[in-house]
Formats: sequence, C-alpha cells, structure tokens
Amino acid sequence: MMTILELQKGYREGSFSVRQAVESFLERIKKLDQRIGAFITVCYNEALDQAEQLDQRLSRGENIGPLGGIPVAVKDNICTKNIRTTCASRMLENFVAPCDARVVENLKKAGAVIIGKTNMDEFAMGAASGTSAYKKIANPWNLSKVPGGSSGGSAAAVAAGFAPLALGSDTGGSIRQPASFCGVVGLKPTYGAVSREGLIAFAPSFDTIGPMASTVKDCELLFNVIKEQNQSNGSDTEEPDIENSHKNNCTGAFDAGMQNMRIGMPKECLVGLDQEAAQIYLRAEKIYRDSGARVEWFSLPEIDACASAYFILSSAEAASSLARYDGIRYGFSIKDPQDLNFDDLIRSNRTEGFGDEVRRRILFGTCMRMPEFAAYYEKAEKIRKNIKQAVNRLFGRFDLILMPTSPVLPFDIKEKHKYLHNENQLDKFTAIMNLAGIPALSLPGGFSRTGLPVGLQLAGDYFTEDKLFRAASCLEQKLGVYKKLPCLEGDQA
Ligand code: GLN
Repeated sequence: MMTILELQKGYREGSFSVRQAVESFLERIKKLDQRIGAFITVCYNEALDQAEQLDQRLSRGENIGPLGGIPVAVKDNICTKNIRTTCASRMLENFVAPCDARVVENLKKAGAVIIGKTNMDEFAMGAASGTSAYKKIANPWNLSKVPGGSSGGSAAAVAAGFAPLALGSDTGGSIRQPASFCGVVGLKPTYGAVSREGLIAFAPSFDTIGPMASTVKDCELLFNVIKEQNQSNGSDTEEPDIENSHKNNCTGAFDAGMQNMRIGMPKECLVGLDQEAAQIYLRAEKIYRDSGARVEWFSLPEIDACASAYFILSSAEAASSLARYDGIRYGFSIKDPQDLNFDDLIRSNRTEGFGDEVRRRILFGTCMRMPEFAAYYEKAEKIRKNIKQAVNRLFGRFDLILMPTSPVLPFDIKEKHKYLHNENQLDKFTAIMNLAGIPALSLPGGFSRTGLPVGLQLAGDYFTEDKLFRAASCLEQKLGVYKKLPCLEGDQA
C-alpha cells in the first residue's frame, strides 16, 4: 500500500487523480470487506464527491492541505455530520449526529477524505471486536483470528489496505491492542492532547481519540492534524480538561537518533507473557542497546493492579455515560410500547437496545457506585493515584518505557469466553497508561511462527509524543516489518 507521501506525490505530479485513488480504495473495500467486516458504513458517494472537489482545487493550483486526498477510516463512535454514528450498537442504529466531532473537522480542514465508519466493540467495550451488534471482524492476517478491540475495524481497515489512515479511540487499550494484533501503528495520545468533543463517551476520564496507520511517519502526520493546535487561545472552550500546551513539536523528530535516550523495561512484563511475544520484546531491547540507548530493567509492581482498577473505574463512568440512552430522549425504542408503564418502557428499550457486554458493564458500574461497594471504588481510585505518582517518578529516570502491547497473540474468533470475561488479562499492559493519562504507541515488532503480528509498546511522559515517534521510527527501520502486508485471498492489489 502507498504511504501518504507517495499518494501525495502522485497527486502533485498528476500520475493519478484523487478520484482515481479514492475509487481504488473503495473498490478494494467492496471486493474484500465482506470477509473482514471492518466497516459499518462505507461513504461511497460522499468520498467521491470530496475527491472531485479536491481534484478541482488541485487543477487550480491550490494547496489541498497536509492530508489532501488521503482516505481516512473513522471509528463509529466518532460523530460525523450526515453519516450515521452507531457505536456498533442497536441503541444508536439510526443516529445521525448534528455536527462533526472536532477531530473530523480537523481532518476535513486538512483535506482528508472520510472513506467510512469502522466496526468496533459495542460502545468501545471489549478487546476482540466480538461485541458489535452488526457483525464480527476478522484479522486480515488470519481470518479465523480476532483483530483485537475495541478499534478492531480501524486496525483491520489499515492492515487490509482499505485506507492508509484510521482514527480509533482508546480508553484502556483499544487503539494499541488492535494495532498490535493487526500489525499496524497506533497512538494513544496524552489525555487531553486531542479533543474528545464529538466522541461518544464510554469513560470520559480515560477516553482518548488517536491515529492508526501502517507506518510511524504516517501515524505522526495524522496526529499532527488531529491534535489541538493552540490550547492557550481559548479555541477549544468546550474541552475543559486540556491542561497544558504541547511541550512537543513533532516536526523534525525523525532526524534525531537514539543516542543517550534512557529506556526502562519493567520486569513484571515478562510474567505470563506469550513466549514468542517475549522473544520479540527482548529483540527490541537489543536493537535499542545497539542504537546507543541506555536500557535498564526496573520493577513496576503497580502493573498488576491496573487492569482491575481500570475495570472498576471505567465501568462506573460507563454506567453514568450510558444513562442517557433510554429510547425516549435518545436511542432505540421498542416497537409496541402501548401497555408498558414508564419504568418498564425504559427497561425494555435498554434491554433490547444494548448487547450483553454493555449491560454487564452498566450493572457492574452501577454497583461500584453504590455505598455498599465504596471500598472497591476507593481502592481503585487510590491505585490510580499511586500509578500517577509512580509514573511521575519514572520519567525522572527514563525517557521512555518499553513494554509488550498484549500478553497474548491474536486468538481464535471462536474462543468467545476469552474476550467476554477476561478483559483483565487482555488489558494488562495498556490500561496503566490510561490510568496515568500518559501517551503510548504500539508498533509492529515482528511475527509469530504462524504469521501473526506481535506489537511492541512505548510509553512516555505527558505530551512527549515526539520522543515516542522518534524511538518507534528507529525500531521500525531496524525491524523492517512494516514492509510486509497480509495476503488476502483473491487479492490482486
Ligand atoms: N479492552 C478494554 C475494555 O474492554 C479497553 C476498551 C477501550 O479502550 N475502549 O474496556
């Protein structure tokens, strides 16, 4: 698949038009997505209209923007004007948002073409993309395996060559884990670096929107477009929790090497880690050492409690975020409500509108907010506080932390039990960054013997995405894995 820079070179030199490029992506989706299930909605007409407008601007010699003519797949929990946003739920089956999310506005201003809305776990709850109310998603590298989740559609869309770029959301690992399972790059930015306006809430104190791409460079280009550009001029007044202006300016980050970069590796990551994933993790250690980085193992015992604390806190927030869907003000309503009283009507709307996993989290989260369970909630809050303190100490000592992204390799779609009731294991290495609010990036680290992608994760201090890109780019070049593409049956592209 062509990178952004290659596509843009083609447009500039007139080798192909934006319309031709967009058409070829749409054809590929039409031909192959039946077997993958990456999209809930494909924007055939809107994308071609947008492409034509960009071609006209090009013919007038205008600058079409940093992402001019680049197709982007958008996760279906990010609002798009005139295109439905379902959260992969029956509850929002017919919901069309009145305006674009802030990130979508930014994409459009930058000339990007929205090619479709991607399939996901319902309301972003899950780690295997198996809870969508519409269809399952297959991993493009092996169609019998899960793509990870909840942004499984976005990751699969990039891996399958349906779009060079995608947006995902990450509350406890939902960008990084599917990026790892599908062999693509995904960034969970610093909490607050990218506006959440127009992202349908799951757990607002954790939710972040972030970029996914097939190379680190492309991921960085997309991040530069969606991040809040100037937070001090009051332009994002609806986003009260943006703390700081960026310490980083990512441009030029790729020229700097790894010399003297201090990288920490937590010992706890090796416990229970898949053996092949462990080999790939240790190979990355060697590459960094050979590149001049100062690598050191250290102990981060807080890791063990993170997934449970995340699950308690995020479910408690989810119970209140999802309270608005009652089928009266918002969302799905049952067909024949005549005989029902008010309470039964809401109960029926919510029972039929939400799937099992979402209902389970609402129930669990509601319990966690009750006085009887205060001890659990308070403990989870305490863990979150400890994590933040531990992280603050860590980044005095290290520039970056290197970790595996997932403790396991992509598993079989049929192993349903693995993804419905085992989040704690699957989120083990990712939820910690959401609890702390720090940025983390997953990039392809290699492949298992059976050809399944294995990701590696880098985490940094608040607003140091530039360092993540720099270190990821170094590893990417040394590993060269991004040059490999899945071979989809019947695929002539
Ligand atoms: N797998 C995690 C969960 O199920 C993360 C979800 C997310 O980041 N949206 O909650």
